[in-house]
Amino acid sequence: MPESRKRRLDPRAPLVIDTRELSRRAGSLRHARLSVPAPPALGTEFLGVPVGAPVELDLRLESVMEGILVSGTARAPLTGECSRCLGALRATVDVELQQLFVYPELHSDASLTESDDIGELDDDRLDLEPAVRDAVVLALPLSPHCREDCPGLCPICGELRADLPADHAHDASDNRWAALAALRHNGTGLTRPEKIGRADPARTEDQES
Ligand SMILES: [Zn+2]
Ligand SMILES: [Zn+2]
Repeated sequence: MPESRKRRLDPRAPLVIDTRELSRRAGSLRHARLSVPAPPALGTEFLGVPVGAPVELDLRLESVMEGILVSGTARAPLTGECSRCLGALRATVDVELQQLFVYPELHSDASLTESDDIGELDDDRLDLEPAVRDAVVLALPLSPHCREDCPGLCPICGELRADLPADHAHDASDNRWAALAALRHNGTGLTRPEKIGRADPARTEDQES
C-alpha cells in the first residue's frame, strides 16, 4: 500500500481543527467559536498579527459530498508601522474565510486537489492556517498609514512633518549638505573638505583662506 506522501498535520498546531464531532453525512453542520494564538508571519512587512495574539474564529463546518466546507470569519489585532511616518500602528483585521477540505480518499482526484483553494482532511483534521494567512494578508494595505492624511517625514531632515511648522523648508545649501551626508553614509569616501569646497564655490574661499 503506498504510503501517503503528504505532510501529516500537527494536532497541536493552533489552527489545526478537529472535525470528528461532525458527521460525515452531507448536510451535517457544526458551528465553532474559538480563540487561538496567532502563528508567526501572519501579515506583511509593515503590518501583522503579533505572534501568540488571539485570533478569534467564528466558523461554520458543513459536511458536503467531497469533504467539509469551512466558512466564517477571523478577527485579530494588528500592530505595525505607518509606511509614511514610521509611527506605531494599531488596528484590527476582520476577514471572511471559505475553504473546502476534501476527504483523503479523494486525494487522487487531481481535479479536486490541484487547486490551491482546496485543502485536504487528514485523520478528520484540517489545517486552517493557510486560509487564514491568505485572507489576512489579502486584507492588509500594502502601505498602511496611521491616518489617511499622514504627512510623513521631511525628506531632508527626517523630522515628522506633523511636528514641523507649515512653512518648514530647507534652503539650497541645506540640500547640498544633506546630499553629501547621504554620500558619506553610502560609503563613497567623499569626505575630504576640499571636495566639499569645490562642490560649493561660496564656501571655497572660507576653507582656502
Ligand atoms: Zn503616519
Ligand atoms: Zn526638514
